[in-house]
Amino acid sequence: MAITACPSCSKPISDKAKSCSHCGFNIGSATAEDIERKANLAHYLAMQKLQNQSIIAILLFLAGCGFVYWGGSEPGEIQYNFSIGTAIVGFVWYAVNRVRLALAKRK
Ligand SMILES: [Zn+2]
Repeated sequence: MAITACPSCSKPISDKAKSCSHCGFNIGSATAEDIERKANLAHYLAMQKLQNQSIIAILLFLAGCGFVYWGGSEPGEIQYNFSIGTAIVGFVWYAVNRVRLALAKRK
């Protein structure tokens, strides 16, 4: 018995299983075309999720930078440090998402 990824939800399942225990996708009666369509949809949704996260990360970065420049707080204040922190988190999150997107596209 080997572990394989469900074509519908990509969670690990047994290759002997007739249906997925996570999403209920019926592997036994699905045609190759069904399985491929489900896999494409799962891939598309995963890419969409990463792109949405990238947008949120950019917004976090811009909000942090914007507050540093227009927030009126001085360096050393908690608000200033918080804004810098927000910008850094946004930037790092965006960079990580770019790498994850590139890896997901390669599949
Ligand atoms: Zn599944």
